[in-house]
Amino acid sequence: MPNRKTHIKINLILALPLGLALFYYAFKPVPLLLLLVFLLSFLYNTFVFNPDLDLARYVRPLSLKGLLIFPFIPYSWFFRHRGLSHSLLWGTSTRVLYLMLVMFVIYGMWCFLTGAKGDWSYILGMLETKKEIFITVAAAWVYGDIWHITLDRCRY
Ligand SMILES: [Zn+2]
Repeated sequence: MPNRKTHIKINLILALPLGLALFYYAFKPVPLLLLLVFLLSFLYNTFVFNPDLDLARYVRPLSLKGLLIFPFIPYSWFFRHRGLSHSLLWGTSTRVLYLMLVMFVIYGMWCFLTGAKGDWSYILGMLETKKEIFITVAAAWVYGDIWHITLDRCRY
C-alpha cells in the first residue's frame, strides 16, 4: 500500500523506461511524436490522472497539485477510496468519461460566453483523424493504472 511519493518514484524509475521501451519495440518504428505523447500521458497519469483521484477532495486547493486536481474534486465525491476508481477497466473508464464531461462543460461555457458557435463535428472529426494519438494516450493511462493498482495491492 505505497504512498503517493512511492508511486511517483516507482513510476519514474521503473515503469516509465520500461513502458517506453515496450512501446517502442512493440510498434517499431514508432514516430517520435507518439513516443512523446506516451511520455507526457504517462507523466500526467503519474502526477494527476491516477486512481487516487478518489482522494481529490482532500487536496489543498492552493498548491500546484491542488490546481491540477481541482477539476476532479466532484469526481472524488462519487468514488470512495480504493473502490471503483481502483478497478482497471472501470476506474480508467470513469475518469476518462469524467474528463470528457469536464471538457464538454468548459467548451460549452466558452461557446456561451464568447458567442462562438460550437463545432462538435470538428471535435469528433479530430477523434477520427488523430486516432493513433488518442489510442497512445489511452494506452499510457491504462499502463499507468496497471502499475498503480498492482502496487496498491502489494503488501510489504
Ligand atoms: Zn491508489
